[in-house]
Amino acid sequence: MRSILVRYHEVALKKGNRPYFVELLKRNLASSVRGLGLKEIKNLPGRLLLLFDEKADREEISDRVRRVFGVANFSLVESTSRDLEILKSKILASLDARHFNSFRIVTKRGDKDFPLTSPEINREIGAVVKERSGARVDLKNAELTISIEILPRNAYFGFDKIVGAGGLPVGTSGRAVSLISGGIDSPVAAYRMMQRGSQLAFVHFHSTPYLDKTSQEKVRELVKLLTRHQFFSRLYLVPFGEIQRQIVASVLRPLRVIFYRRMMMRIAEAIARKERADALVTGESLAQVASQTLKNLSVIEKATTLMVLRPLVGMDKQEIINQARKIGTFETSTIPDQDCCQLFVPRHPATKAELVDVEKAESRLDLAALTQFGAENAEVEEFKFPA
Ligand code: ATP
Ligand code: MG
Repeated sequence: MRSILVRYHEVALKKGNRPYFVELLKRNLASSVRGLGLKEIKNLPGRLLLLFDEKADREEISDRVRRVFGVANFSLVESTSRDLEILKSKILASLDARHFNSFRIVTKRGDKDFPLTSPEINREIGAVVKERSGARVDLKNAELTISIEILPRNAYFGFDKIVGAGGLPVGTSGRAVSLISGGIDSPVAAYRMMQRGSQLAFVHFHSTPYLDKTSQEKVRELVKLLTRHQFFSRLYLVPFGEIQRQIVASVLRPLRVIFYRRMMMRIAEAIARKERADALVTGESLAQVASQTLKNLSVIEKATTLMVLRPLVGMDKQEIINQARKIGTFETSTIPDQDCCQLFVPRHPATKAELVDVEKAESRLDLAALTQFGAENAEVEEFKFPA
């Protein structure tokens, strides 16, 4: 049977939270490999063992497990008898095709009644590996680590550790609503929140028919990419053009972007209620553009009573771009589109909005009606991974 040994960081597992964390990690791992022949997930101390049927595609399994948050690292392992002679010969046979100058063996016993201790097993197996390969033992910087797990009925061994996505299992840190624009920043912000364990719903504001539909198509693709990490997503596509037209009719040009943003916050808050979410997430980064000065950000967030989380606030554009490339969203984000915030706005928006001015101008609008219009007319789409 083909198997994967998943290791998670214990630091995150303080006291009573541990079973909850492990349950969600198991659930998420099972979701991620759906359709790939998973038979069972076994709990081991600090680790999980995923057992697959014979035909399971290891490449595909690794690819999926690599994206599951909460996984520190994992290894592909072979199942074998606990008989030490059989274990030795299997390990030697699997090592024949490998070249390495140094190695170490790390044994863990899930069965403390096994006649040999872990260091004894390390020594016995180490001796034959050393003899066959000519490589030296190096406990600190080994080129090859051989991991062995002794369980009550059988044993497992494997060689390489694949680095996982880290963070916490999605679902362990509540729910939030992510405002996603189709640009570079907001998908990275969403990723960082999911990595901290939040389950996200997505909201996108579009200005069709005043602008074309590219931003919606991009956002669908981005949500699809991000859903690989949380397995289910809901996307709300809010028709914003009509609301913008009303804002434009009563608000002077320099403040329009601030108004758009405040309206977005209100509508996202209404959607967060439906989603039972506790926070809004944006891709704003301090002073990146005129609408993101400290003053403007603070005026924008006063439109909602929800906490506004901005995981990118202290990041440089280049750092954000690097992460977008790494998580695979950059290419989609850089397809040219027509962003709703470009509609009816000046090239030089206000950088120092004052709340009193904004509130005064807003009093000419029926904010509750506009909010309701946006939230109720949103089209809702659902995404699943694997599809
Ligand atoms: P991004 O690359 O995420 O679009 P940006 O640097 O272009 O960010 P802005 O266009 O000022 O910045 O938007 C700031 C944030 O406001 C975005 O990161 C996003 O969270 C939210 N936002 C902007 N436009 C939209 C939209 N059309 N739909 C949903 N959220 C939006
Ligand atoms: Mg943008």
